[in-house]
Amino acid sequence: MRLQFPAGVAGAARPPGADHTPRGLWERKMTARGLRRAASRLLERPAVPGRVSRACSTFRTFAEVLRLPPRQMTKLAFPLRELQRQLTPDSRLGLHVKTFDPSLEAISQAESVFTAGGRHRIEYVSSAVRLDHAPDLPHPEVCFIGRSNVGKSSLIKALFSLAPDVEVRVSKKPGHTKKMNFFKVGKYFTLVDMPGYGYRAPEDFVDMVETYLKERRNLMRTFLLVDSVVGIQKTDNIAIGMCEEFALPYVMVLTKIDKSSKGHLLKQVLQIQKFVESETQGCFPQLFPVSSVTYSGIHLLRCFIANITGNLKTDGL
Ligand code: GDP
Repeated sequence: MRLQFPAGVAGAARPPGADHTPRGLWERKMTARGLRRAASRLLERPAVPGRVSRACSTFRTFAEVLRLPPRQMTKLAFPLRELQRQLTPDSRLGLHVKTFDPSLEAISQAESVFTAGGRHRIEYVSSAVRLDHAPDLPHPEVCFIGRSNVGKSSLIKALFSLAPDVEVRVSKKPGHTKKMNFFKVGKYFTLVDMPGYGYRAPEDFVDMVETYLKERRNLMRTFLLVDSVVGIQKTDNIAIGMCEEFALPYVMVLTKIDKSSKGHLLKQVLQIQKFVESETQGCFPQLFPVSSVTYSGIHLLRCFIANITGNLKTDGL
């Protein structure tokens, strides 16, 4: 296993050397051949076609969020906490909202990592269809992976909204990203936008992604995007299987949370959290719900990325 959990609770979803014995769902998927066969199913059509986005929110900077009334501020900065209010006091404990719980100050500090200016350049570097064509960048790396149309490009665009010169293309048609796109965030880290799986995935998707996940030495964390409207789909299970098989530390991000009612979102969060607890070894227990339209959860996710790439210490861990 090349990838190690860094020190700190954010890296301690499961301790290094944890028993990765397949169980439950994974028992049926973990053999190399089975995994490969299953992975080819990643090329299937998505369950729900996408919609054209609404206008973007103005809450791109955390200073703007801090000026909001407390309830609205919490909703934008800590969307899970807002959901927690829906639960009875007894069941509140069951929702993982405190595993990564940075202070408002830490979230503000993390913003500087994502704000381009002066010598701090945030830029697209190159694209690659094979790992040996990937740029040789020395910094810690994080990658974003998910079904076509899950909202991956929109999320990356939202994360980079403080660096307006970075061009992240957002398509109206599914299956836009066919290559691995590398973005350099100054001297801090590299962000990789992986090809979308499912409908219209590139033919060599499996080879490309499998090799990258298995062999990229400086990959610190994989962010696996799940559409909060429809929850985990069959194709997502296979991507999860890959992360488990390669013993990768990964995190589930729930996209498009502005599209669901609170009740529906809470149901999805609890279901997915239960799945993470019972069926996975390498997934971080706390989910990250986000909306690229309202910017809910975006600032917290920036803070988490700054933390796990070693660029920000937070006392909320
Ligand atoms: P990708 O194929 O995973 O890169 O997905 P895109 O980022 O291109 O998004 C697919 C569709 O979902 C587009 O129509 C987006 O405008 C829409 N979308 C993405 N994120 C959100 C979100 O947070 N909220 C809403 N309402 N729509 C979104």
